[in-house]
Amino acid sequence: MNSISKVEKLFNLFNETAVILQEELPSSYLEALAETGENIFHGDVLQDELSEMTKKRLLKQYNSLQLKSYSHEDVRKGFQLAILKGMQENVQPNHQMTPDAVGMFVSYIMDKFMEGKKHYTLLDPVVGTGNLLFTILNNQAHRNIDSFGVDIDDLLIRLAYVGANLQEQSVQLYNQDSLEPLLIDPVDAVVCDLPVGYYPNDVRAAEYELKSDKGHSYAHHLLIEKSMNHVKKGGFLFLVIPNSLFETEEAPKLNAFITEQAYIQGLIQLPQSMFKSKAAAKSIFVLQKKAEGVTAPKNALLAELPKFSNVDAMQSMMKNINSWFTEQKSK
Ligand code: SAM
Repeated sequence: MNSISKVEKLFNLFNETAVILQEELPSSYLEALAETGENIFHGDVLQDELSEMTKKRLLKQYNSLQLKSYSHEDVRKGFQLAILKGMQENVQPNHQMTPDAVGMFVSYIMDKFMEGKKHYTLLDPVVGTGNLLFTILNNQAHRNIDSFGVDIDDLLIRLAYVGANLQEQSVQLYNQDSLEPLLIDPVDAVVCDLPVGYYPNDVRAAEYELKSDKGHSYAHHLLIEKSMNHVKKGGFLFLVIPNSLFETEEAPKLNAFITEQAYIQGLIQLPQSMFKSKAAAKSIFVLQKKAEGVTAPKNALLAELPKFSNVDAMQSMMKNINSWFTEQKSK
């Protein structure tokens, strides 16, 4: 079986069993998906309230699956398709899962920046369903990465927990507001697909340098400050940012904070065709926290990615990106 049909098979199983659960449980599709994912992991039906008939139907489906015969990426993709289906019901835009193409590109860029590191610690302070984090972990299986994920949304983090189990990724997950104190030591790298909007807790926001002088502060600005505080000196931040980040009234303060604390390593604009509108388009922003012995790159990696479907343009872009890394090494 090729990888596409494997992913399809997994999606069908997640989807069909979530729908069966929904017939008897008062739950949304995503809640049922988390339940069925947990059942699959335990190889059993954990919901006592289900009828015997439904339990039998579920077990028959679960027993037809040999999870071990699928790669971690197949499992992630199959689960991701089911999450996407559920998210069409009613998930607010800021809680959307990181799209696959974005995750794959962030993972590729990270792999380049972390070259030579066999072991590192990684934090995603807005881990959501974990899709971005797992893309990175699955694609850097040659490294030993101790990872931590935090999210305020209890359903999304539950999906992350189930996804981690099914993909055999050991991740420490915390269900809390990342702008509150974290019980996690500073890490070597942060990855963060920033939620864009206002942060409602003005009292907590007041503790941050990047709080707004009037009204609510921008959650994404506070999360950048939090991420900077939570990365070790010399560590990296890989941020998925809105292209408009430096165009608002609060931008000068953010700009000053970033230049004081870090070196800009790269700003890579994702293809606009990936987003619903120009206003929704995003970039990958790479920063390195200042430290003794760390210097700014001669030139930051600045790129505007072509459509991923344009193979020739994409290949030539990858060549340019790879040359930038080679140049940095010979610096
Ligand atoms: N990378 C994630 C994934 O692949 O599923 C998606 C990240 S989504 C764009 C942004 C996430 O930020 C949402 O899951 C949302 O619940 C979370 N979030 C928003 N404000 C937060 C806060 N103050 N603390 C922790 N998480 C927060």
